[in-house]
Amino acid sequence: MALNADEQKVIDEAPNQLLIGGEWRDASGGGTLAIEDPATGETVCEVADGTPEDAQAAMGAACDAQADWAATPPNTRSEILHDAFKAIGEKADDLALLMTLEMGKSVAESKAELTYASEFFRWFAGEALRIDGYYKNAGNGASRVLVMRQPIGPCYFITPWNFPNAMGTRKIGPALAAGCTMVVKPAQQTPLSMLALAKLLEECGLPGGVLNVITSKKSGDVSEPIIGDPRLRKLSFTGSTEVGRKLIAQAADNVLKVSMELGGNAPFLVFGDADVDDAIEGAMIAKMRNIGEACTSANRFHVHESLADEFAEKLAKKMGAMKVGRGTEEGNEVGPLIDGAQRDKVKELVDDAVEKGATCVTGGSPLEGEGYFFEPTVLSGIPDDARVLSEEIFGPVAPIATFSSDEEAIEAANKTEYGLVSYVYTSDLKRALRVCEALETGMIGLNQGMVSNAGAPFGGVKQSGIGREGGNEGIHEYLETKYVAINL
Ligand code: NAP
Repeated sequence: MALNADEQKVIDEAPNQLLIGGEWRDASGGGTLAIEDPATGETVCEVADGTPEDAQAAMGAACDAQADWAATPPNTRSEILHDAFKAIGEKADDLALLMTLEMGKSVAESKAELTYASEFFRWFAGEALRIDGYYKNAGNGASRVLVMRQPIGPCYFITPWNFPNAMGTRKIGPALAAGCTMVVKPAQQTPLSMLALAKLLEECGLPGGVLNVITSKKSGDVSEPIIGDPRLRKLSFTGSTEVGRKLIAQAADNVLKVSMELGGNAPFLVFGDADVDDAIEGAMIAKMRNIGEACTSANRFHVHESLADEFAEKLAKKMGAMKVGRGTEEGNEVGPLIDGAQRDKVKELVDDAVEKGATCVTGGSPLEGEGYFFEPTVLSGIPDDARVLSEEIFGPVAPIATFSSDEEAIEAANKTEYGLVSYVYTSDLKRALRVCEALETGMIGLNQGMVSNAGAPFGGVKQSGIGREGGNEGIHEYLETKYVAINL
């Protein structure tokens, strides 16, 4: 299926080269990688396939720019971030179309991501002006303690395909605010949005070399020389727990600071006293935002047995009514999954649950024809041994299990190596607080289906990650603390 004129225009205008030291350039070997529209499976364009030599050059450029950027006045760093916040809003139509063409979600959802992504620039434009330290009397009264915070230094960022811009701005925003330079490596399936963001930052006055972008088919090969470079000070990764583990091991050699935003397996708990319609509204957001391809997606619903049938019936009615189709066409709500492998994995998880005794209330299958579409699916009566309870689905599938007591619900929620986010629906304040305290999780949506917010600390516990992005905590991931003992 050919792109229409608007689609072709945003593809033609999107940068497709590497950005190194303020210059846009082809990969050193001249290679390219194909970008596929997941709604059709067709190639929409090619971008530079960076090599380890290009990665080294990008790292060198980030190091060369570090001292000047750290010395750039906070007001200037803040203004660039604020201008970029505004520019994303002004260019949102084109940026959203570009994102949809490479990632699949509806243009409306791409715009929502851009709003979320830009909020990190607004938030950290403020934080750039609030980097503080302190001076105090020591306990013995004879000396003084001076504490200062300084930029950590050159950083390496690796981002996933599911939120091609927001997963970048959560790192780029605080790093720029703190005075750090960086190399960014977006996922090979969605590099266009990151390249477009880099161009936008350049247009907003970001000096060359502060932000460098490497796109590549061989993420491991280009990452190795950067992570192994003794001048690198920080590695921040968003992606799967499996890759995160490998990167932590690589980072150990140089004792790098790491931030890890990894996988999730979010439980969505609906207690017997919950307002079912509110819970359905929250469930639709927690499950269907980003086609279910979010680390924060509700992976499993644990519903009190007294409400389970009503909840399944209402959720199936809403999910079954969603319009599935190409994200660029107005009115379509559920775009394709990112690729054939992801669609096949979702099908495998659904089949496993049904074989073990679950009931498919709606959906259950991939759509025939081009692209990687999957029907919004609700499964009820999920048995304890179904893989959907322990594995990240990353698709539009809502498995519903039941519980009969609070203890049982908490035990089921915590029965996972992940701990990113949980959702809790109850109208009883005491129960809400008891459950929030007992859940092993970095974030909780209490009677709401979304937690993402630039002003709040995003991150997980257990194998969902290390560190926090956003909120008052976010800037500290990019600052070192230095203490001076003063003899008066
Ligand atoms: P992924 O396979 O781990 O890939 C993430 C990034 O890592 C991509 O840029 C990928 O590049 C790169 N990568 C893969 N292997 C690498 C290696 N050996 N060395 C260096 N880089 C490597 O994850 P994904 O499938 O893209 O994303 C989905 C996962 O991300 C899910 O588990 C989801 O929960 C998680 N996620 C977490 C958060 C959070 O904030 N906690 C947010 C969003 C997503 P290539 O793809 O180009 O190889």
